[in-house]
Parts: sequence; structure tokens; C-alpha cells
Amino acid sequence: MEKNIQDFIDLIKKKNPNEPEFIQAVEEVAEAVIPFIEENKQYQSDKLLERMAEPERVTMFRVPWTDDSGEVHVNRGYRIQMNSAIGPYKGGLRFHPSVNLSILKFLAFEQVFKNSLTTLPMGGGKGGADFNPKGKTDREVMRFCQSFMVELQRIIGSDTDIPAGDIGVGGREIGYLFGYYKKLRNEFTGILTGKGRSYGGSLIRPEATGYGNVYFAQNMLKTRGQDIKGKKVVISGSGNVAQFSAEKILQVGGIVITMSDSGGYIHDEQGIDEAKLAFIMDLKNNRRGRISEYVDTYSSATYHEGERPWSVKCDIALPCATQNELDGDEAKALVSNGCICISEGANMPCTPEAVEHFIHSKILFAPGKASNAGGVATSGLEMSQNSMRYSWTAEEVDSKLYSIMNDIHEACVTYGKDSDGFVDYVKGANIAGFVKVADAMLAQGIV
Ligand code: GLU
Repeated sequence: MEKNIQDFIDLIKKKNPNEPEFIQAVEEVAEAVIPFIEENKQYQSDKLLERMAEPERVTMFRVPWTDDSGEVHVNRGYRIQMNSAIGPYKGGLRFHPSVNLSILKFLAFEQVFKNSLTTLPMGGGKGGADFNPKGKTDREVMRFCQSFMVELQRIIGSDTDIPAGDIGVGGREIGYLFGYYKKLRNEFTGILTGKGRSYGGSLIRPEATGYGNVYFAQNMLKTRGQDIKGKKVVISGSGNVAQFSAEKILQVGGIVITMSDSGGYIHDEQGIDEAKLAFIMDLKNNRRGRISEYVDTYSSATYHEGERPWSVKCDIALPCATQNELDGDEAKALVSNGCICISEGANMPCTPEAVEHFIHSKILFAPGKASNAGGVATSGLEMSQNSMRYSWTAEEVDSKLYSIMNDIHEACVTYGKDSDGFVDYVKGANIAGFVKVADAMLAQGIV
């Protein structure tokens, strides 16, 4: 078995040189799924995993745009259409200077399993550009989005591929992208999710990834007779996922003591309460400022420049910033400080060494493809509402999100429970995600 895993990983490395993030994501899935395939004969034919690790289609394109002073800039745009076995391609767009083929392929690959876990009919995709929205004016962002959509519109559609947001792509960018698609195609359809409320967006979509992350953590804690009330929670990031993870933690009685951005983290041992969180949301969403500004207003807090929050003593950790933001040493620090539960709000924030340490320590650890699936699940609910030309209330969407997160947790337990009763959520999520996609691929022939 070890040899089969190694042979498969060698093949992936050979086919995808210089794509470390993509190889990392495939390796994690292969380690869980190959032993399962060996025990289940029906999945041994047709090179299922090999086909899953090869995108159905990759599009790369030039995105020229002019800044406010008239200077021309050229960025690179991408869309990875990874797998459409169980539904149209679905997944976000990331605008960040670090974006490259490896990062988008890892995200698209993860998305296939995540979307499968949601129980909704969505295939997997991801896209974006190496554009940095930071420091750009609204008009510059608009011109960039319009140029990006000129190319993207050729390959997306409400029954083909439905992008959404991710890092650097929020309500503002989705609005500009949607407006330009509509102008180019003369068509008002649900081609993007995360839209504004006034033009087809779903209630609870902005909150969904963070809320879902906390619902998943609650489910995990329940398996050990625990809950969030009174527990100290360390959160990284201060974007959409971090903000709404914090909001839900406060609603269920937890104490949020850190948040961060790429500059460093703030530590407020007295707790970031509702008013302080509202300050952070305004700072980040409207003023587009830095987290360091928090300590100018709240002198009880300290700012740690260039550092990550994982050395702060806590009960629960929610990494909600970006990939590979929590390494093996930081995982050791968390566990030795008494942390009992880690739920990934970001995609692949923990390195393989960190994940291994959490599982080895037998604490609760949820991989992002399970714990952050609430975002894309609610995108799926937005698609349903768009198709029906109807919209559900916030309570209706939230209760559907809640039960989807419970179902994902159940699926992880079904496939991830070891003989000693420990639930390996990484194994569970990967196998549960694999099974639905594999069954559909087997039924559809070699395509
Ligand atoms: N970017 C989010 C994710 O990583 C959301 C994708 C979507 O809503 O399509 O799942």
C-alpha cells in the first residue's frame, strides 16, 4: 500500500514540477483515499484518482488594465475547471499577488472534495489573478474586473461554471464582475455567487463560511461532551471568514482573543467583544486599514508585528487567513498550551507536519474541505434561489447551512472513525468526498 501511495505521488510530482501546493493537496488526499480504494474493488478501475488529479481544462489569459494615471498594467488571469462529474464547476476567484498555477490547482482540487461533501450538486473549479487589490482605487479595481471578465465570460455560465469570491474578491469585486458579464452577454443569470442582496445574492452567504466553521467545531466538541461556551479562541486573519467565525463564536459564548493580517496579530486577553469586532469589520471592510490600528483604540491589546498568533494559550484555534500559515512547531506550541480543537476556516492553512501532529496528539482537527464548506454550500443555496427566481429568509438559509454542516460532520465520522473510536476528520473528509465523485465518474465512462 505504501508503495502504491508513493508511486502515485511520484507520478503527480513528475507531471506537475514546480507546483508544491498542488502536490501537497494531492498527497493528503492520496494518503487517505488509496488505502480505501485497495479495500473497495469497485474503485480500482478506470484510473479514478489519476483522472481527478488532472484538471478537465485550464484557461490562462492576459488581463490588461489602466490605472487612474493612465499607466497600463498587465496581470495574468486563470480559471481551473477541475471536475464536473457531480455538477457544474463551482469555486471562487482569488485576487492576490501570490496567485499562480500551483495555488489555483491546489484550491480547485480541494474544491472538488469540499463541494462533494456539501451534498449539493456542484463540481469543482477555482480561478483568479495575480492582481493585488490592496491600495487600488475603486475605479482601478472596476477596470481590472471588467478586463478580467472579458475573457472569463467565454468559459463560464449558470449551468457550466459559477465562480464566487475568495481572498481579494468580495462584494465589491463580484458586483463589478457581474455588471460586466451582464453588459457583454445581455443576460441576467446566476453566473456568480456572493452577489449583493439587491441583484440576486442570498442572505447569510457573507456569514456562511465563518458560521459553518463554528457549527463544525461545535459538532466536533460535542463528540467529547464539550461546547464553546467560556472557551478561549485564537483566530488568525481578519477578512470575511475570520470576521464571521468571530461573530458566531461570540454568539455561542466563546471568547475571541486574537485576530491578524499579513502585518501581524493583535492579542486582546479581555476578549474581542461585539463592539470591538464591529470596529474591526469597519476597519477592514470600509476603511481598508491594518489590524495594527486596533491597539490605538483598544489599549488593553498588544500588537505583534510580523508574528502569527499560535503561541497564544487557547482552547480552540481557528486558522482563517491563508494556506500554510500554521507549521509543525506552531502546532506543537498549540497542543502543549492545552488547545483541544482546531477547525480550518481557510484552505489548507496547516502544513502537513502540523496536521500530523494534531492527529498524532488525538485532538480534534477539522480540515478546511469539511469545516469551511459552509461558504460554498451557501453558494449552492444561492444558485437554487436564483433558479427558482425566489429567495429564502435568513433563518431558512441559516438552518439549511446548519444541517449541511451536521451532515458533513456525520460523513466524516462515518468514514474517519478508527477502531479506538478516534475520528480522523482528514481521512473521513477525503474518503467521503471521493466516494460521490468516484461513483459519478464510474457511471459516466472515460471522459
Ligand atoms: N472561495 C470559497 C471556498 O474556498 C467559496 C467558493 C464558492 O462559494 O464558490 O470554498
